[in-house]
Amino acid sequence: MIILSVLFVIVLFIPGIFIYLFIRPRKTFEQKYQDAIEEEALLREIGVSEKCPSCGHTIQNDWIVCPYCHTKIKKKCVQCGKPIELPWNLCPYCGEQQQKPFMDEKTS
Ligand SMILES: [Zn+2]
Ligand SMILES: [Zn+2]
Repeated sequence: MIILSVLFVIVLFIPGIFIYLFIRPRKTFEQKYQDAIEEEALLREIGVSEKCPSCGHTIQNDWIVCPYCHTKIKKKCVQCGKPIELPWNLCPYCGEQQQKPFMDEKTS
């Protein structure tokens, strides 16, 4: 009787392993696929927008001021008006030297 029940468990157990092995790789593959999609979407999201260093709100790449907390993120080029990083003294778009880059920073 004990042997029979052990055999019964083994008989049930072995197909269970097979089913487990069969299902598991497909599941992880699907999971990987899902993760890849999510990661891609996340990367794309980072690509088109960034976060305000002060309040953490999502802001556009070309915004020069955060509309939520009014923090200055970028400055406009004195020559072409394109948004450039605050520490930059030179405009990467037109090559214009920026005058007194930190002058208007303390007033606002
Ligand atoms: Zn902000
Ligand atoms: Zn410029």
